[in-house]
Amino acid sequence: MLFDGEAELNLPRIVRDLLDGREVPNFLAKGVTPPDRIPLILTSSRNGLVQITRGCPRGCQFCKPTTSFFRSVPLKTILMEAALNAAAGAREISFVTEDVLLYGARGLNLNPDAVKRLFKEALKIVRRVSFSHVTLSSALVAKDAVRYITEANGLSSDDPLLPQVGFESGSPRLVGRYFRGKPYPWKPEDWPWIVAEGSKLLNDNYWYPCLTYIVGFPDATPEDYVKTTELIDRLQDEGFMGWTFPLLLVPIGGTRIEGKAGFKVFKELPPEAIDSIVAGWKLSIKFSYYIYPKIIAPLKNPLTKRIVNALIGSRSDGDVDLVNQGEARCRGNGFPSDKHKEYKWVTSQRYQNNPARPPPPSHK
Ligand code: SF4
Repeated sequence: MLFDGEAELNLPRIVRDLLDGREVPNFLAKGVTPPDRIPLILTSSRNGLVQITRGCPRGCQFCKPTTSFFRSVPLKTILMEAALNAAAGAREISFVTEDVLLYGARGLNLNPDAVKRLFKEALKIVRRVSFSHVTLSSALVAKDAVRYITEANGLSSDDPLLPQVGFESGSPRLVGRYFRGKPYPWKPEDWPWIVAEGSKLLNDNYWYPCLTYIVGFPDATPEDYVKTTELIDRLQDEGFMGWTFPLLLVPIGGTRIEGKAGFKVFKELPPEAIDSIVAGWKLSIKFSYYIYPKIIAPLKNPLTKRIVNALIGSRSDGDVDLVNQGEARCRGNGFPSDKHKEYKWVTSQRYQNNPARPPPPSHK
């Protein structure tokens, strides 16, 4: 049988029925566990992961978590899980959430005080608290909570946070069609501004996000993809620190977009879609060169450090090839004859001649 939902309350009953030889349905989509009945973890978690929310009220059509009611896990439960991890030796924990700034919110009415208290109390238990996801519109609404998290963690350009953020598209038309709740309290037409200003705010607070975007919305036009590329170019021009990472649309079962969309393959995409993919790759590679020494600096094991260094260092001449080859494959052209084509931002020559790596771009 296939069980789709939160397991805590319903799965044990199904398992009992199976063990007792009773009939169970082939497919069961069920289960929203009230926050006070979400059980504590029993042992420390990998990488100190601690769940703080479930669900998301923004209602994006391609998103599975939003099909579940939004809930915040009680502070007491979170702190007990933090303490359990600390007792097992963890000095850092990472909050698992669709949007850290939604903690304690009522719907989309944010509660920055609850967010601050959450970090304040958790940081009495461990040295550092990071998180998985945040939304740019939430960040612009709860600027003081963003600053608080940065100050309480003592973040710096050498010790940033690297959260994942969905920007999805630069086209307000697609925002209005597929994720009009994401810009709230602003409107779909404000989305490019939200992405640009929200990114600056995060960068000013040493949050260097991975901005993911979606290629393959069912009725996306070349103009929609051009708007995404233009937004990536704008971020680049304004000195964005982070990654821009394209994802092909996956019409996940149970989401609102399921049934409206299928999987797209590259040859079904217009050239403008591939342009947007390549623009994201190029920006990301440039930032990777800036950030990777900082990421590997805290690695304690010298052997691991040398291996990672060797792996990344060996790519210094190969990244142009990688982007070229990836672009050619996406366009269905095989491999380009001019393998060392130079990009505006990514050139092997530039990195070979500058072992110190390029300075961080600044938007200030
Ligand atoms: S904001 Fe993120 S988590 Fe929330 S519904 Fe949209 S995609 Fe899902």
